[in-house]
Amino acid sequence: MATFKEFGLSPEVMKAVSKMGFEEATPIQAATIPLSLQNRDVIGQAQTGTGKTAAFGIPLVEKIDMNHDAVQAIIVAPTRELAIQVSEELYKIGSTKRVRVLPIYGGQDIERQIRALKKHPHIIVGTPGRIIDHIQRRTLRLQNVHTVVLDEADEMLNMGFVEDIEAILSHVPTERQTLLFSATMPEPIRRIAERFMNNPELVRVKAKEMTVPNIQQYYIEIQEKKKFDTLTRLLDIQSPELAIVFGRTKRRVDELAEALNLRGYTAEGIHGDLSQAKRLSVLRKFKEGSIDILVATDVAARGLDISGVTHVYNFDIPQDPESYVHRIGRTGRAGKTGMAITFVTPREIGQLHHIEKTTKRKMERMKPPTLDEALEGQQRAAVEKLLATIEHNNLSFYKRAAEELLEEHDSVSLVAACIKMLTKEPDMTPVQLTEEPPLMKKEKKRQVQTRQRRSETRGRGAKTRTKR
Ligand code: ADP
Ligand code: MG
Repeated sequence: MATFKEFGLSPEVMKAVSKMGFEEATPIQAATIPLSLQNRDVIGQAQTGTGKTAAFGIPLVEKIDMNHDAVQAIIVAPTRELAIQVSEELYKIGSTKRVRVLPIYGGQDIERQIRALKKHPHIIVGTPGRIIDHIQRRTLRLQNVHTVVLDEADEMLNMGFVEDIEAILSHVPTERQTLLFSATMPEPIRRIAERFMNNPELVRVKAKEMTVPNIQQYYIEIQEKKKFDTLTRLLDIQSPELAIVFGRTKRRVDELAEALNLRGYTAEGIHGDLSQAKRLSVLRKFKEGSIDILVATDVAARGLDISGVTHVYNFDIPQDPESYVHRIGRTGRAGKTGMAITFVTPREIGQLHHIEKTTKRKMERMKPPTLDEALEGQQRAAVEKLLATIEHNNLSFYKRAAEELLEEHDSVSLVAACIKMLTKEPDMTPVQLTEEPPLMKKEKKRQVQTRQRRSETRGRGAKTRTKR
């Protein structure tokens, strides 16, 4: 695994990436970023969820010339949702540098897009049809574009966009860098690459085959915004002795730990930003059982030797099968059986299959528990508490009061009242996990930023620049 420091990125981009909570580059990023910074054409093939957006986004933002008010890069994506997602990620990567990113897609008011295009965005992320529309209206000019990215190329093929892509590419100066990303490489995509790319480097990230320990593995298909409530329901039903919840980023871990505490669980987070001393103290508390839930990033959890973990919850699906194996290897140690539950959003299903293929183990589908099931789980926990109190405590001091009560009330009502009081109220404290920054902040007085160019460009890209 590579840290982002190794790429020689500008301080602005480094700052933005660190603010996004990325600790280290994913395999596709580690392989693609250096090539892309050297202006090589790249074909990147990796499963969904492996970080392809930042793989092209980081070098792309790095190369935007803030002294030049022109569209310098164009990203073509198959759907409106993906175009928005990509533009949000690019916006974040470019937030410190203040790069202007504009998504344009079908269905949105074209006049509004035309007005936005007049504000000199540096990067356009769009769906094929709408990009062509703007080219034909001359509201989008591509003569200064030095980088083109075809994202999710196989999806675009499936949706019948090949001719549109060819039309767009023919409007961009041939002196350019072209990057193509795809989960699969069917023949028509290869042909586009051959025709429109210049000696591209093929980067394929294929995980090694791995075996996983013998534990029960489940997945739950779930929307992002339902993850947190589902996690708390699972915790109530399964009442794990010791659980680890894995989140993708440092910020995610902090927010999750805080939200769990708000809802009455004892949880603490660990990630790479904490001092060694702090990490050790959290771990000690976890091992002693004074916290039940450890929330962690992959990096922080790597190499930890914790025994007795009964449940691993992958709140975010891991980036690659290796991480998956590492994560769930935390449970089921020392002869105990463990359980791993992975949350998968609909667009990450491909990543799930990829993990299953690599580990040669199927995860069983689990339905998200209902509120009723969670309440039953809480009730069961209350009953257990009650029974344990009978077993372990001397109750003689209370028996007199009990007898008096029984003279006036029936025993079932009394016991029911005890259980009710012991049952944790369903806590509906609303939690907000990640605050997304607005897509394009109103530009304040824009300062012209001077910055050092770290990677001197060479090859075709350099020519493009001198031409401007
Ligand atoms: P893909 O395009 O390969 O399907 P994405 O680029 O959409 O994948 O990334 C999936 C998720 O992983 C996003 O939420 C993204 O912010 C996150 N991500 C990307 N790179 C990293 C990284 N280096 N560390 C942590 N999270 C990352
Ligand atoms: Mg993608």
